[in-house]
Amino acid sequence: MTLAHRLFAGSALIVVVFVALLTLLSGVRLNHELRELETQRLAHEARLVAAMWANAPDAEAFATTAGTMLGHRVTLIDSSGRVIGDSRFDLAGLAHLENHSTRPEVVQARRSGTGSALRKSPSRGDDELYVAVRAGARTARVSMSTGELSDVIASAQRDVLLSGAVGLVVALLLSVAFARRVSRPIVELRDVARALAQGDLGRRPALAAPGEVGELGDAVHRMAEQLATRMTALQHEEGVLAAVIESLHEGIVAVDANRQVVRLNQSARELLRLNSALPFPADLLPRHSGLRDALKAALSGHAGEREEITVDGRTLALTARPLGAGGAVLAFFDLTETRRLEAVRRDFVANASHELKTPLTVIGGYAETLVTDEIPAEQRVQFVQTIRANAERMRRIVDDLLDLSRIESGGWKPHAVPVDVATLAPDVLAAASSAAMAGGLQLMTDVDPDAHTVRADPTALRQVLTNLVDNAVRYTPSGGSVIVFTRVATQGSWVGVRDTGIGIAPEHLPRIFERFYRVDRGRSRDEGGTGLGLAIVRHLAEAHGGRVEIESEVGRGTEVRAFFPEPAVTAS
Ligand code: ADP
Repeated sequence: MTLAHRLFAGSALIVVVFVALLTLLSGVRLNHELRELETQRLAHEARLVAAMWANAPDAEAFATTAGTMLGHRVTLIDSSGRVIGDSRFDLAGLAHLENHSTRPEVVQARRSGTGSALRKSPSRGDDELYVAVRAGARTARVSMSTGELSDVIASAQRDVLLSGAVGLVVALLLSVAFARRVSRPIVELRDVARALAQGDLGRRPALAAPGEVGELGDAVHRMAEQLATRMTALQHEEGVLAAVIESLHEGIVAVDANRQVVRLNQSARELLRLNSALPFPADLLPRHSGLRDALKAALSGHAGEREEITVDGRTLALTARPLGAGGAVLAFFDLTETRRLEAVRRDFVANASHELKTPLTVIGGYAETLVTDEIPAEQRVQFVQTIRANAERMRRIVDDLLDLSRIESGGWKPHAVPVDVATLAPDVLAAASSAAMAGGLQLMTDVDPDAHTVRADPTALRQVLTNLVDNAVRYTPSGGSVIVFTRVATQGSWVGVRDTGIGIAPEHLPRIFERFYRVDRGRSRDEGGTGLGLAIVRHLAEAHGGRVEIESEVGRGTEVRAFFPEPAVTAS
């Protein structure tokens, strides 16, 4: 039931009760007044009859004449109570009438001059109003039937009822209008409040109502203004927070008290490989016991220690913190690269130590023998040569390591200039010619006319080609060929060496550019390799903003190439 209906029902009830009361009261009052009036009129008539009766010789004739003229029953009673004239009866009829001395109006008239009574007429059976007055010792009485009176009253009551009904209709119409007028602003306020609650912060009440409702409208208006201002501030803060969270390298995951993931930045999506739309259940997070336990503890209010977990092959540092209002925040920091570099460094130190230790042991052993034992001269020369060869090997390793660390540390910057590979390649090949000749190899160049100049640091490019040619010569059996080539690429050029050598098995290719990585350690060492050649090539190419690639097939040959970008995209 709406407010307008309630207001209408309330006012309608009041109006109906009021009209009913009015009709009832006016009916009762009219009845009373009319009776009073009729009684007085009958009293006047009775007095007139009494006065004129004194001069009338025949009571019966006089009663009939007076009754006819007044239009009412006239009864004349003598001092003994006997009816001696009655306008309603003839002489014969009078004989049958009772003695009237005990009639209440007669008794009252004899006592006080005038008397009245209302009762059923024994002669007519109708309700009669009797008024009697004393005329000396006799009594004159005038009476009328109240039937006429009742007709008047009924007609008056009908009028009152009719006007009451009209009044009721008018009042009901007015109360409808009133209910509408009172409820309209309240309904509008309700609608505005609902719209505000549903987030439509642009809605304002447009009413201009007087009194409390108007004040309520103003208050709602002010409240909406404040809400909109706060909401804008909140949205701004939310925007800042979202931007901050998105810009973090750490993965951030916020879980509410109902275990729903409500916020997640791009880093977290990538680290945890999640692509569900927010919000989603925390059960969709990776099934890792450490992660689940940390989340459970944080959701029950305990901040956990930072711990390392491995998810999907990535090493992540996880910190879980409870949120004030329930829920938890998980922060993931990707340690994969750090851990990988640590492993590389550890391997490197172990490898470098190992590489240096072998020639050192040889040098130490031979030196000791030379000092302590009696050794024939020719053997002594052989020992010294071995010592020198190992010292030379150590020097090469140390030189390569120094080159690598210089490039890696960023202390060395390439000075890229256009270098003519058509000139440089034969130079590099010439340096390897004696080894190639000894191995029965053919050395060739295949320089693309569109890429005969490459933008690179000349010394670095020479070292790249030297290392690649040395490898190719080393790992190509007699009768094969080694070719220095260039190739045009988008935004740069490839420079590389291809051979028809022993090739490299596919499982070695992903790690072939790592320091000290060798397919056949013994062979490399025998060939005078340090295991650092390709690592140096890679670092030199990367220092130019380029990269390296390798293609190889066992038994067929290998192609190693370095990309040198054009200046527009050169990072150096
Ligand atoms: P190394 O000094 O041992 O040659 P590199 O870093 O230059 O070290 O090469 C690493 C390893 O890659 C070598 O030990 C060798 O097994 C393999 N390799 C490099 N170049 C070639 C090639 N052209 N053909 C076959 N194997 C090669």
